[in-house]
Amino acid sequence: MTEFSRRKFLATAGASAIASVFLKGCIGNPPSAADLSPKAVALNLSSDQKPETTTVKLGYIPIAEATPLIIAQEKGFFARHGMTDVEISKQASWGSARDNVEIGSAGGGIDGGQWQLPMPHLISEGIITKGNRKIPMINLLQLSTHGNGIAIANQHSGQGIGLDVSPAADYIKGLQGTASRPFTAAHTFPKVNQDFWIRYWLAAGGIDPDKDIKLLAVPAAQTVANMRTGTMDAFSTGDPWPLRIARDDIGFMAVLTSQIWQFHPEEYFALRRDWVDQHPQATKALMKAIMEAQQWCDKPENREELVKIVAARKYFNVPPEVLRPPYAGKYQMADGKPDINDPMMGPLYWKDGRGSVSYPYKSHELWFLTESVRWGFLPEETLNDAERIINAVNGEKLWREAAQEIGVPAADIPKSTSRGVEKFFDGTEFDPANPRAYLNSLAIKRV
Ligand code: CA
Repeated sequence: MTEFSRRKFLATAGASAIASVFLKGCIGNPPSAADLSPKAVALNLSSDQKPETTTVKLGYIPIAEATPLIIAQEKGFFARHGMTDVEISKQASWGSARDNVEIGSAGGGIDGGQWQLPMPHLISEGIITKGNRKIPMINLLQLSTHGNGIAIANQHSGQGIGLDVSPAADYIKGLQGTASRPFTAAHTFPKVNQDFWIRYWLAAGGIDPDKDIKLLAVPAAQTVANMRTGTMDAFSTGDPWPLRIARDDIGFMAVLTSQIWQFHPEEYFALRRDWVDQHPQATKALMKAIMEAQQWCDKPENREELVKIVAARKYFNVPPEVLRPPYAGKYQMADGKPDINDPMMGPLYWKDGRGSVSYPYKSHELWFLTESVRWGFLPEETLNDAERIINAVNGEKLWREAAQEIGVPAADIPKSTSRGVEKFFDGTEFDPANPRAYLNSLAIKRV
């Protein structure tokens, strides 16, 4: 039997396989939802869609943003598009992911994977690489929106720390310069989005993240250990970490990123440009598989199976109970703030209240560069050069082709490279047509 006919046979045999799983269930070995839902059926690919290679190595960090990569692997979407030998590789930290993409899979690293923005731009420009070597990357699609939050250590409960942090501003600032240490907050990698979320939130409440507190990159496990021992006050990262902190009664959820900026850009799928150039059809095959996984992830009836898959030891390694509430949009907020119970406030993968989640809008890449200028991470002149930087990295053309090839309805393919004006919880607006007006409107900034 050829590989293809074997796959086809397995697919058609799916119904009886399900029946036998049920039977197994009856004799005291209950099937998990994962056993019940068959994998995607392999496509008979035409020569212009057949990938040039079946192999790729993709890095991921075990947080909610990685879900479409894990689902594309586990539910057979990669294999369906001919990518039968995808390795998804858990990265110890964002720094390791950066180091691994620098060396590429040929050197034992990775070809790309999951990224916080603007990492693909910073790597492409040689700003965060060894010896400032430029490693061009292509930002191909957005993996998710929401699913990030800021957890605060229990010792600060009762101080009014919530979405609007201004009532607690004097308290937080007051810890600076006293006998006690300053309010200390962590993110997982400097100058990228989880750093930006906590900075935006603090600054909107009148707290200068560079002057009034101490803000630094600390590995997630170390941050949680430090919160437990009372030497860390806040943590900005992806689910399930903030939930684990709340569940273990180390701290409480103060704010969700979906509250700071609803339907905000979050993390992305990007590959080294040399890999994309060598394997244009394989690139699109990966994108199609991830897009199908994103659609699968957003179906409410799949969320329980999703939770069981990502909770597994080899992925997030957490009890499924920790993941069920956030994937249903349920967040227990503390310090007198009402709980959140709205699926549209949890992680979303394919569509949100503004349209496409998956589409890599250039206007969002511009916000990340603008915010980098705001905090002095990139020089102000970057704004004059933003179009070149973004055009070199943005992969919207491939996104459109991939979407059309899997029959995404025209209504679900954005017409513009800009999502238009963005609005934050404090009333601040970012108009991609005028990023300097946004910078001018902000009180706390380094520019
Ligand atoms: Ca994140």
